[in-house]
Amino acid sequence: MSDLNTSMIEKYRSSFLKEVEANVEEGEWVKMCMQCGVCSGSCPLGKHWDHPPQEIFMMIRANKREEVLGSDSMWMCTSCYNCIARCPRGLPITHIMHGLAVYSKRLGLTPKKQPTAEFSQIFWDNLMKKGRVNELKLGLSMNFKDGFGEGVKNAMANQKLGQNMMKAKRMNPMEAFGGHGVKSPGDLQKIIKKAQEIEESKIQAAK
Ligand code: SF4
Ligand code: SF4
Repeated sequence: MSDLNTSMIEKYRSSFLKEVEANVEEGEWVKMCMQCGVCSGSCPLGKHWDHPPQEIFMMIRANKREEVLGSDSMWMCTSCYNCIARCPRGLPITHIMHGLAVYSKRLGLTPKKQPTAEFSQIFWDNLMKKGRVNELKLGLSMNFKDGFGEGVKNAMANQKLGQNMMKAKRMNPMEAFGGHGVKSPGDLQKIIKKAQEIEESKIQAAK
């Protein structure tokens, strides 16, 4: 690419695009989007979202930081990979959508009560205790996340599901007394904490 082209591209890169390139998984691909709309047209769910992928990439380039990071659209991506398979520019769209969701969560900009974000947090907290998921406690945390009253209602509604999971050995009532885990959960927690510190320092350096 000539120096003239490079400097023109640099001039039209918004500050939010640069932020995305520095902090979001595969974010450096966003500038390659040619706005053909194939991804949004291929996405089985995109028409129900505020902003399907092509629109999200356009908004990043238009510097619409709050609208993008405060949106719940990227949280709705089910990783079906339709968009990636069809994008003529080969953008890793699914990964960018998840990267944007993670980044918005890290900045505390994810909409309150976003169901996927809530589930992710509960799943993560559960996993981090022993290094392996305790399905029984995960189910209970999900059912009771909005308080005792809602929890009882949810537990009644999901009773059959719980029984079937136990029958299929996907959930064990004995997990209430501890459950399985990795050999040294403390070491795992230290590794994750260190990785989080490194990520955080990268975000701070990019500000
Ligand atoms: S299919 Fe690819 S190039 Fe087309 S709008 Fe979507 S991300 Fe952009
Ligand atoms: S991977 Fe996500 S964004 Fe892509 S088509 Fe599927 S649901 Fe839509």
